[in-house]
Amino acid sequence: MAEFDVVIIGAGPGGYVAAIRAAQLGFTVAIVEKEKALGGTCVRVGCIPSKALLESSERYLEAREHLADHGVTVAKVGLDLAKMHARKDAVVKSNTDGVAYLMKKHKVERVTGTGRLVAAGEVAVDGPDGARTLTATHVVLATGSRVAPLRGVAFDGDRVATSTEALAWPEVPEHLVVVGAGVIGLELGSVWRRLGAQVTVLEYLDRILPGMDDEIAKEAKKLFTKQGMTIRTGVAVTGADVADGRVTVRVDGGEPVVADRVLVATGRVPNTEGLGLEEAGVQVDARGRIVVDERFATSLEGVYAIGDVIHGPMLAHKAEEDGVALAELLATGHGHVDYGMVPSVVYTDPEIAAVGRTEEELKAQGIPYRKGTFAFMANGRARAMGRTEGKVKVLAHEVTDRVLGVHAIGPHAGDLIAEAVAAMAFHASSEDLARVVHAHPTLSEVLKEAALAVDGRALHA
Ligand code: FAD
Ligand code: NAD
Repeated sequence: MAEFDVVIIGAGPGGYVAAIRAAQLGFTVAIVEKEKALGGTCVRVGCIPSKALLESSERYLEAREHLADHGVTVAKVGLDLAKMHARKDAVVKSNTDGVAYLMKKHKVERVTGTGRLVAAGEVAVDGPDGARTLTATHVVLATGSRVAPLRGVAFDGDRVATSTEALAWPEVPEHLVVVGAGVIGLELGSVWRRLGAQVTVLEYLDRILPGMDDEIAKEAKKLFTKQGMTIRTGVAVTGADVADGRVTVRVDGGEPVVADRVLVATGRVPNTEGLGLEEAGVQVDARGRIVVDERFATSLEGVYAIGDVIHGPMLAHKAEEDGVALAELLATGHGHVDYGMVPSVVYTDPEIAAVGRTEEELKAQGIPYRKGTFAFMANGRARAMGRTEGKVKVLAHEVTDRVLGVHAIGPHAGDLIAEAVAAMAFHASSEDLARVVHAHPTLSEVLKEAALAVDGRALHA
């Protein structure tokens, strides 16, 4: 008989949430994690530390440049970067400790070490306390992702960095080159720009934030440029050479760019190396992702995969929902995640948030739609906050009026999108959104007005 009902490899948001839900449903669960701290990329070197630095750097900039607008005078604003990092580390620790507490509370057995799938129902663990083999009825692979390498560019753990090092640089770079105008590049580029770096973003495509609605991405580019970021699109980086503490970034067909630090943020790839997949007979696709069916089942019976290591958006909340759905599938036979309803948020200032289809996707799919937009500029609360940049856009089916996508750039857009996700999950029409009473004065009225604008009847436009 197997030692556990469920053994999970990887304690990121996918793995640890699957463990909690499986335990809640009465399974005996073990979780294998190679790092000492639990929580995965998100908690250790992703979502949480980046948001801590975004928060701190925003406050620094606010004190330096914007408080005076409110009649608040501050004599001298200084930067204690070591303290900012220490605060970030403490925030990370409280979260990793929180995950450890949750594992204990739910009687999930923690096994420290590197896990490898030996066969269906069998996981070998190589850890600080030696080797161990775990047996289970169900094995869940939740090993997440790592930084994608960029041809011609060698990471040196210092000057030519991944997001992990860029979250911990001990001094503010004078000139930072960010390769890739995706989510990581723009979030961490924003952190270091606010702290005083000159930031140049080099993006291969002719636009920033691929996958986001084009109109919103254009607005974002305009605003980030106004803030002082240099964004160059249509630039292919071909190499980076480090000498005397400087990095020369080579670009295809153009002048090299010299910087003192480079952040490479050109995407992430699934973590499957050394996991024993080929030997055990688990199929991966051309992009290295573990192939699963709609029940998260891999090609090997009793072995499942969730989170960044499979298809779908590489987001923590998606990984978590995968984990819940899989645990429920194993216990009840029912469980599902609709990837079309996964919101995405870019935590820049202003924030950018989206759910559902973009206008470009609707056009490409030949779906007739109506669109309503409303600017934060016309919202009383946004004016009171002095945060009038950006807009919300609602896309609804031309015939049924069902909401198909909501895209926002503006203050607290990441929180505002939750209402749109709930509306879409309940198959709401734009009229439904427009008829809901929204408190005044709140930023949420911008979403209501954008929904009214779908029918050409925004009230404050
Ligand atoms: P991971 O979090 O990567 O966890 C996988 C775990 O498996 C890791 O702990 C790893 O050590 C462990 N592991 C791997 N192989 C083995 C093995 N063989 N044996 C034992 N353990 C193993 N997403 C958001 O939604 N919001 C954000 O704001 C956000 N910000 C981000 C910022 C940065 C800088 C980065 C890099 C990512 C960010 N993400 C964000 C993405 C988010 O971190 C991932 O989508 C999420 O962590 C995926 O969860 P996961 O459980 O699938 O994998
Ligand atoms: P990304 O896919 O968001 O962006 C990568 C960018 O790099 C793209 O714009 C791409 O066109 C560009 N690029 C690729 N090759 C290039 C080259 N040779 N030269 C110049 N540009 C090039 O990837 P990322 O920013 O590394 O983020 C990785 C993942 O982490 C994403 O899937 C994202 O969902 C997740 N993440 C999410 C959040 C969030 O939810 N707020 C924050 C950070 C990371």
